[in-house]
Amino acid sequence: MANALAQPRLSRPPAAPPGRIPSPSAVARARARRDLAARPVARLRVAPPLERFLRATRRHGLAGLGLAFAALFVAGGYTRPLPIPGWTLALPLALLALVAVAWRFSRWSHGRRVPVRLDFALGLVLLDLAYAIVQLSGDRDSHLYPLVYLLAAFFAIAPLPRRATLGLVGACVAADVLRFASTDALLSDWRALSVQVGFMVVFALLYHLVLSAKLSAARAYETHAVERRLRDAEESARSLRLIVADRSRDGLPAEAQEATAGRMLLGAVLEVERAVGSILESAQVALGPHALALYWLSGDDQTIALRDGRCPAGLLQAGPLPAGDGVLGSVLRHAQAIRASGKMGGITWYTRSVPIRAVLAAPVIERTVEGTGYVRGVLVCDRLEAEPFTDRDEQYLVEVAAQIARAAEAERLVGELHQAKDQQDRMQRAAEELNRAATIDEVGRATVKLLRELAGGLDLSALTLVEREGSRTSHRVVAAEGGRASEVDGLVYDDNDGIVAHVVRLGSALPARPPGVFERVKLFDLKLAGLGSLRVVPLVAGGKTLGTLVAGAKARGAVDPEAKRRLEALSPLAAGALARALALAEISRLATIDGLTGLSNRRELDDLAHRAVQEASRYQRPLALVMCDVDHFKKVNDVHGHAVGDEVLKAVAQALEAEAREADVVGRFGGEEFVLVLPNTGAEGARELAERIRRRLESAAVPTTAGPLQVTMSLGVSALPTHGHSFEELTRASDEALYEAKRGGRNRVVLAGLDRPTTPAAG
Ligand code: GH3
Ligand code: MG
Ligand code: MG
Repeated sequence: MANALAQPRLSRPPAAPPGRIPSPSAVARARARRDLAARPVARLRVAPPLERFLRATRRHGLAGLGLAFAALFVAGGYTRPLPIPGWTLALPLALLALVAVAWRFSRWSHGRRVPVRLDFALGLVLLDLAYAIVQLSGDRDSHLYPLVYLLAAFFAIAPLPRRATLGLVGACVAADVLRFASTDALLSDWRALSVQVGFMVVFALLYHLVLSAKLSAARAYETHAVERRLRDAEESARSLRLIVADRSRDGLPAEAQEATAGRMLLGAVLEVERAVGSILESAQVALGPHALALYWLSGDDQTIALRDGRCPAGLLQAGPLPAGDGVLGSVLRHAQAIRASGKMGGITWYTRSVPIRAVLAAPVIERTVEGTGYVRGVLVCDRLEAEPFTDRDEQYLVEVAAQIARAAEAERLVGELHQAKDQQDRMQRAAEELNRAATIDEVGRATVKLLRELAGGLDLSALTLVEREGSRTSHRVVAAEGGRASEVDGLVYDDNDGIVAHVVRLGSALPARPPGVFERVKLFDLKLAGLGSLRVVPLVAGGKTLGTLVAGAKARGAVDPEAKRRLEALSPLAAGALARALALAEISRLATIDGLTGLSNRRELDDLAHRAVQEASRYQRPLALVMCDVDHFKKVNDVHGHAVGDEVLKAVAQALEAEAREADVVGRFGGEEFVLVLPNTGAEGARELAERIRRRLESAAVPTTAGPLQVTMSLGVSALPTHGHSFEELTRASDEALYEAKRGGRNRVVLAGLDRPTTPAAG
């Protein structure tokens, strides 16, 4: 016995979860769907009469011929010498039947579809031929009559669509009945007819049943064989540790996923088997043993099974064998090579007693990058001759065992690399997709979709946004997907003690929590019972938490470490996209507001006002427009300076906003002039509002850095449709009213003249 290796640790990495392989039915379903998609769409075309006639002949000619001949034999055409010469007609019929059947089978063997009506017509021709023969050989007394039974049986088992089969067997029966009827034997000889028809139907049915049973048995056997082969491959892959948790294909349709996984798995197993095979081949040549066998430990370390062996047929135990027994058990337990000679026990690898005189066995040990060793199996060789294995033999076998370990290890690494590459590609695609998203909503939708694809098995995925206004913080669910999405999508709520709010405050992901906690704690601002696992990750960009990513699943542990890792990989991408969308939104907001007052600027005012006036005109709803101008504003500037003038303008803007409703448009028209557009407000209502604004300014001095200043304002009011039909017309009318107010002494409201002529609507 020799110690060939430093003692490796017998611990092993956690067993990999089962991989998925495609079920044959899934593959068949996928294929059927593809075939359906590939079928061409019928062309619609109106044909001229001649073409239509030709086409009808092509389509129904054969069936017509078949029917014509059928009519002939029903009339007894072949039994009478005159006026119809039977033989002469039977010959072309036979020829026709031959050509037709040959054509049918050539189509069939090329996998082309044949229309049911053609099958039916061909069957009719065959039937006619059979009846022609029967009639020519003595009609109802003919000893060739069983030919018709035979034909019915043929229809029952031929590879025809069910409709054609039923139709043709029916035609056989109908032909019999008609033939009897034509000779007036229907009533007198009904017994003979019943027996004949009965035989025909039973004959066809029996044939059909027997063939169907045989076919389905064969199909079941084939399915079973395929399933077994895949199961074996999966088992092999598991014992070789080739299966690793792989969610990289989660985004693909289930069938494609299964097919890819199954293919990769089979490929990997075959690769390892080939490598192991050639290693054993050379070992056999070098050591010249009686048997050379590689036994592999099962996933639970309880048993070993033969992976590959070189030995006279049938002598090696395939397993599974208990892992602790005999020489092999000893090698596995101590993770050391064993060498022995002479008479010995503990030989467990033979199916019957074999007089072994020398044994050499070495453990197959896989080493991780960190240097930890894991025992995977044992390689054993033996001799019948009393010729002990040498030190060099042992060194050699240990090296062979190491090569085998490396083959399995290399294949697993390749698999992992593929997976890592796949993951990288997906992240790249995710980044591209997020880059294309320009608005906050688009970022939300894209992120939630990617989240579902990357993490897999989620029942809820969502993106939330923090909205801060002064000291007030609220949260908005920008997008949500999954079973409970409808409850939360679009939800806006104030900062609270929920999980999302917590994550935003802490700026770090929600730590693992004991299961059941989600029943008690709010996720958004509601308790989402029924979630078994949950992960909430903050979206941080530029040191600021912009929102969160939420991934939840009903199953406990569904958001596993791998899913968490992907979530965390996605979060900076989503955060970046969100920051960009927020910046874009801010830029476009800035482009629409007046920098000094925060009201809509002139361009935005024009835009909103035009739309409001157009809509009110279309639906004939009231709308009013108020033009406001600060009185003697120039004086404020002149006396207190421009900066104080600005302060006054800001205060006036605030007063306007305070009096306006949500739907009203308040904008700076220019200088110290402002415009209010008031949808659903008539002239009188607008005048009252203008009066309120006037009084508000008049009643309280504006606090400025130069002290409180008394400011007043003049306002002109006009309304649809009395004073105009467009924004421009209303502006003009209000401006004129404003001018009246100034002329009348300022600090007053004037409603535009009711007698003002108006021009027709401009749109
Ligand atoms: P009236 O009562 O007839 O309206 O007299 P007024 O002095 O208000 O009228 P006028 O149109 O002659 O003066 C408007 C002044 O508003 C002229 C301009 O210097 C000043 N102004 C325009 N825009 C701004 C601004 O953004 N800030 C400041 N401080 N002043 C402005
Ligand atoms: Mg002015
Ligand atoms: Mg003014």
